[in-house]
Amino acid sequence: MAKRTRERGFPADPEPLPVPVVDNHTHLDHIGAVLAQAAPDGEPTDQAWPPTVTDHLARAARAGVDRVVQVGCDLPSARWTVDLLTSLSASTQQARVVGALAIHPNEATLHAGVLEVGPDGLAPEVEEHHAVSLDDAIAEIADLAKGDRGIRAIGETGMDLFRTGPRGEQAQRASFRAHIALAKELGLALQIHDRDAHAQVIEVLLADGAPERTVFHCFSGDAEMARVCAENGWYLSFAGPVTFKANQYLRDALSAAPRELILLETDAPYLTPHPFRGQPNAPFAAAHTVRAMAAHLEEDLGTLCTDITANSERVYGNW
Ligand SMILES: [Zn+2]
Repeated sequence: MAKRTRERGFPADPEPLPVPVVDNHTHLDHIGAVLAQAAPDGEPTDQAWPPTVTDHLARAARAGVDRVVQVGCDLPSARWTVDLLTSLSASTQQARVVGALAIHPNEATLHAGVLEVGPDGLAPEVEEHHAVSLDDAIAEIADLAKGDRGIRAIGETGMDLFRTGPRGEQAQRASFRAHIALAKELGLALQIHDRDAHAQVIEVLLADGAPERTVFHCFSGDAEMARVCAENGWYLSFAGPVTFKANQYLRDALSAAPRELILLETDAPYLTPHPFRGQPNAPFAAAHTVRAMAAHLEEDLGTLCTDITANSERVYGNW
């Protein structure tokens, strides 16, 4: 029983990194929702359950993940993100936070009223906030992203042809284009969600002109696509899947990517790195992923962390 409880909780604490690194894509608000399903059966563990956002930021800092980008990619989550940024006080004991905001491609379809089942076969889940039109939803993102609230990127936006069909694709493309324009207007970085949509996403970026700092969140292409990103100066952000045994193509992409374009993320609570797949993810676990990346690249861990941190600051500024 005790073992089962541990497996349903978070991964083991990594050995602290020799040099701090940045988790440039995480969903602190979703971690709680996933834990509601993963919580041990009413059994108290040796730590308070579930951990708070502050606990996660402290655990990240202890692991050497000293900064994170919190991504709010639907209306409730975007509002939550701005509230978090205004309520956090600076502490050396906690990872520091900036934000990214957008209407996620799978949210864009729902705001556009497209209720279509995609290749994943799952029925769309409509919620109250989807009554807001797509235009109004993006306008609210624009308002929240303005001013000095710590929003450094527009994202995640892009296309997801796993979750939607042809009508959804149209809505996603329109939403993606509006977000690209917004990132350029506000001078912010762009974080892209690209699921089974490499060609479409690249086509839109080239047609409209990508923002100066464009990041493929959870990069899912191969070495050839890494070269396309390199030619255009687009960043490749690697998450847990680069550590999965079956994903040699991602490690090939990592090898092909110019060092100055490589970023690191958790996408927590999703995409937990090997060997902790199936457990909930949290920002501290980026330390596991970057260790695996350094081992694959046969690079000194501290050097890789230094490079990733410098790249993150180039994209999001300092914080
Ligand atoms: Zn995400």
